[in-house]
Formats: sequence, structure tokens, C-alpha cells
Amino acid sequence: MNLPIAYCDFNATTPLREKVKETMIEAMDIFGNPSSSHSTGRQARGYLEKTRDILAQTIKVEPEDVVFTSCGSESNNTILKHHQKTGAKIFVSAIEHACILNSLPEADRLSVLENGEVDTNYLKNKLEKTRKSFNGPIVVVVMYANNETGIIQPIKEIVEISKYYNALVHCDAVQVLGKVNIDFNNLGVDSLSFSAHKIGGPKGVGAYVAKPQLKVEPLIHGGGQERGNRSGTENVIGIAGFGTAITESLSDDWSKIELLRNMFEDESKKIIPGFFIHGKKSNRMKNTSCFAMPGFINKMQVISFDLDRICVGAGSACSSGKSKPSHVLSAMGVDEDLAYHSVRVSLGWSSTEEEVKRLIKSCKDIYSRSQNKRIVA
Ligand code: PLP
Repeated sequence: MNLPIAYCDFNATTPLREKVKETMIEAMDIFGNPSSSHSTGRQARGYLEKTRDILAQTIKVEPEDVVFTSCGSESNNTILKHHQKTGAKIFVSAIEHACILNSLPEADRLSVLENGEVDTNYLKNKLEKTRKSFNGPIVVVVMYANNETGIIQPIKEIVEISKYYNALVHCDAVQVLGKVNIDFNNLGVDSLSFSAHKIGGPKGVGAYVAKPQLKVEPLIHGGGQERGNRSGTENVIGIAGFGTAITESLSDDWSKIELLRNMFEDESKKIIPGFFIHGKKSNRMKNTSCFAMPGFINKMQVISFDLDRICVGAGSACSSGKSKPSHVLSAMGVDEDLAYHSVRVSLGWSSTEEEVKRLIKSCKDIYSRSQNKRIVA
């Protein structure tokens, strides 16, 4: 009999939560166009506004500040393309998700330290120099937490430095919604982006919030939905599910998830010589373990885990088909060989001790096999 899948790749995407599924099934019967003023349209609009309220309350903004999009990538692209159009000088951390790096290939990169945090001295120097010769808008783009390593950025410090030089800050919060407390105004950033499928919601739904004074230029023009900020009839079913996903994620037991992650790391370290954890001493998301195991390269490791019916990630989901080492680990100065042997485990609300025990055993078996037949990158 086949073992059940042990899904340990929550940072890539998450299973749809049962309650989310229920909400979406209910919303499937609501076919009205949310822009129509008749009762069927208003019924559909009700689903949008409910989720808008939930997200607004969660991050402490006004509901009208929330703009729904088709994904986290679109949210990030909207903000970045807006800044680009204003002629801003844009600085982007070197460890951002591909939807940011590839959206602004020409933007200056901000280096990170060995611990995975943006080098704030480097940022200060860059802003100091730029401000001396440039009066226009400056924008700093730094993610809240990295999807590969789970390392959390010192956002408040980055905001403080940026504000001193009158620079705007955009923060990709896709990995942290529902996992850390976000207070938009207190954080001090100018815009944040989100995605539903990282928290048990559906794929293809995202959102952003931005300070009204930014006057973000829409990426998609048309019928003026979302108060003119994002045209296109809203994905009512998906957005309805997003709302339930946010509510549900707020009661996830993160201390349990952290215990499981730590159990995985502690046990694996005991039994596998050379088992290395990236960012072990850094402020990390409690569910993420990015580790390197000697022996097989990471692609082989992922296949081996898969054969044991365990899903883990190698690099970011979008780049796992490529044979380059992770740009995140490279930016942290991780040795290329170590980067090629690095794998990401990311747990979630449905993870169990049983699954983590299987993961540890699988690590041990893969390592043992690799020592009998070493395959080099
Ligand atoms: N930003 C981060 C940090 C991510 O991890 C992801 C998804 O992997 C995205 C943005 C893109 O989100 P979406 O898949 O909704 O476009």
C-alpha cells in the first residue's frame, strides 16, 4: 500500500483548507458580476467586501486601501511598474522573489549579509550617495521573509534608514500574511503585497495595499474595477476563499509547527555528518528549514524524497527546473557546492510528527545511499 504524501513544501504553495473549500463552493452559486448594481451583483460584491474587510482588519488598514489582484506576482509588478514610471531610482534586495527581480532587471541590487539579512550599512551608503545627486523618488524593495530560507528581514530598521533619505519602501509580504502580526502603519512601509495560495487559499488570487498618496498607476486598464486600481471582473470565488484562508490562518498553532521544524533539524543534525542549516541563528519563519546535506545534489535529493512520498523544495518553486544554484544562497555568500546540496523543508498547519519522523528517516536513507554511490554536481 502506498504511503500517504507527506507534504513539506508549504512555502511553494499550500493545500486548500477545508473551510476555504466550503466558502468557495458556496460562492460558486453566486454568479453575479460584482460591478452590477442589481441584487445578484450586490450578492457577489458582498463576498469581495467581506474579504476586503478581513484583510484590512488583519493588517490594520482601511478596507478601501485593499486592491485585489490575480496573484502576488501581479501585486508586486503593479507597485514596481508604477515606481518605474515615476522615474524613481529603485533598489531591490538581491534575494527577492523572481517576480520582483525579473520585473526590474536593471534595478540596483542591495547586498545581503551572511545571515541572510539585507546589509543595512550598504543600504545607507547607497541612499546617501544617491540622495546627494538625485532629487527624484527613491524606492527600496525588500521582502518581509524569504521564501527559500525563511529569514525575516529587519524591515523596521530598513524603513527607518529609507525614510531618513526620503525613500519609499515596498515590501513583499507574500510569505508572512497570517503568520506574523502585520500593522501596516506601524511597520512604516508604503506598500505591501500578498497572495492567497500561501495560506490555504486558492491560487490566482492576490492583493496589495499602498498608501493613498502613492496614487499607484494600474497595471491593467479597463472597466475601472477595484476603485479604478485594477480593471477586470474580480475573481469572486477565489477572493471569497482568500477571506476564509486569512481568518483560518490566524489560529494556526505556530509553536507546534516550530517544534516540528526544530525536531527535524535537531534529529537530522545528530545523524547526518555535515548536515548544515542555513540561517540557523537568524530570525526565521518558524516553519522553514533550508538545509544542505552532503552527497546527492539537491535535485536528486528532491527526487529521492519524492520516491519516499515526501514533497520538499529545492530553491524557489519557480526556479526549481533550472540548474543554477539558488540566487538567495549565492547572495548570502554560500559556497556553490553547499548551495547545490541545499533543500527546503517548509511545514504548515497540517504537518504532523509522523510526517517529520518520515522526513528524518528519509534524510538518513538518502544520505546513506549517497555515501555508497556519490554523485557529484
Ligand atoms: N513573493 C514571494 C516571496 C513568493 O514566495 C511568491 C510565490 O512563490 C510570490 C511572491 C509570487 O506569488 P504568486 O505565486 O501568487 O504570484
